[in-house]
Amino acid sequence: MTYVPSANRYESMVYRRSGRSGLKLPALSLGLWHNFGDARHLEGQRDILRRAFDLGVTHFDLANNYGPPPGSAEENFGRHLAAGLRPYRDELVISSKAGYHMWDGPYGDFGSRKYLISSLDQSLTRMGLDYVDVFYHHRPDPDTPLEETMGALDAIVRSGKALYVGISNYRAEQVAAAAAILADLGTPLLINQPSYSMFNRWTERDGLLDALEAAGAGCIAFSPLAQGLLTDRYLKGIPEGSRMRTSQFLNEDALDEVKLERVAALNAIAGKRGQSLAQMALAWALRDDRMTSLIIGASSVGQLEDNVAALDNLDFTGEELAAIDEYAIG
Ligand code: NDP
Repeated sequence: MTYVPSANRYESMVYRRSGRSGLKLPALSLGLWHNFGDARHLEGQRDILRRAFDLGVTHFDLANNYGPPPGSAEENFGRHLAAGLRPYRDELVISSKAGYHMWDGPYGDFGSRKYLISSLDQSLTRMGLDYVDVFYHHRPDPDTPLEETMGALDAIVRSGKALYVGISNYRAEQVAAAAAILADLGTPLLINQPSYSMFNRWTERDGLLDALEAAGAGCIAFSPLAQGLLTDRYLKGIPEGSRMRTSQFLNEDALDEVKLERVAALNAIAGKRGQSLAQMALAWALRDDRMTSLIIGASSVGQLEDNVAALDNLDFTGEELAAIDEYAIG
């Protein structure tokens, strides 16, 4: 059946401007790192993507290596575009990245011009696209000169294969250096993509938001639910089919007794606010309006809906923030 998106899709989503750019992003973006590889049913993936768009989630975050196997999330996303979303291409912001290992040999990893340009060409082929909206360097490369990596991003924009460029996992001082090079080249840095959640607050100690503000760039945080720890998912044990059971990226040692007590305490605070823990964790991570967007993951439509409803209450009292600080450690 032909997909017809909800006519109300722009009524409740919040859109925030990325730094001093012209681009607004939904406060919640959807990431395809997990749940969109070949091991997941295409129907389930399709339902999550369409529901997201129906709820005003216009931004989908991918990378060359998402799957498993690497590349399959982009291929599957291409299938879902072809099967219903493509008529809405101009309403979508589609992002991809390169920077982690993608193929064997010296040209399939890190930050050379050789890797970034050929990887983006591969991503475009997998998704069936002429261009992505945002192309990121996925992680800093200690060996390639930053001028080469940023020069590659600039060349990509000039070639028309990306509209904007971003960086990911860069610290404050690396952001300043990257943004300065890009500004000289005439291609402004759109955004940085760091990890951030109640259990992972390194960006606060690093002064990352200040550095991004100074550079005129936005911030989009990944894993704002700490891969599911900051939800009620693990409060009563480890469910079959959960990320902790199915992915190498979340081990049982991530949730020791102390952490579980913190999750339970945060869950109680969320309950007093009339929110699920997932909703409170997302609202909390958006409390600084320099945080342009959060990239959430979802393995079901129900999780997605729960998360988007976080936007119904983004306000915190001073007492609530202080209570959260006792347990939001990381
Ligand atoms: P989250 O922290 O949002 O974790 C998502 C997982 O949490 C889901 O798969 C699900 O786990 C669980 N979950 C989500 N919502 C709920 C809910 N309401 N109730 C219960 N459980 C819930 O984000 P991710 O770690 O998935 O990362 C999000 C995106 O960020 C990625 O897809 C990717 O696009 C990006 N990213 C970028 C990185 C980078 O280096 N730039 C690195 C990592 C991620 P379950 O599967 O158990 O149901």
